[in-house]
Amino acid sequence: MKQFETLRASSLYCQKCGAAMPVREKLLLVLPDKEIHDYLCTGCASSLGQREVTAGDLAMARAIAARQAAAQPGLRI
Ligand SMILES: [Zn+2]
Repeated sequence: MKQFETLRASSLYCQKCGAAMPVREKLLLVLPDKEIHDYLCTGCASSLGQREVTAGDLAMARAIAARQAAAQPGLRI
């Protein structure tokens, strides 16, 4: 599902590592209308960026994930 993948960063440039590093997404903050996710470098655990997920995005992501789960049993998002 290409559309959904564009919402997530799989690797970001890390100044400390001097290269584009795979990132790990961590839920930083949950607000009533949105969530803040932190992107951490898998090499040095530096924070490389943040992403805000609005309630609308979450609803869409869940709908897509539910559809994918139904289409591909065994795949966890
Ligand atoms: Zn790094």
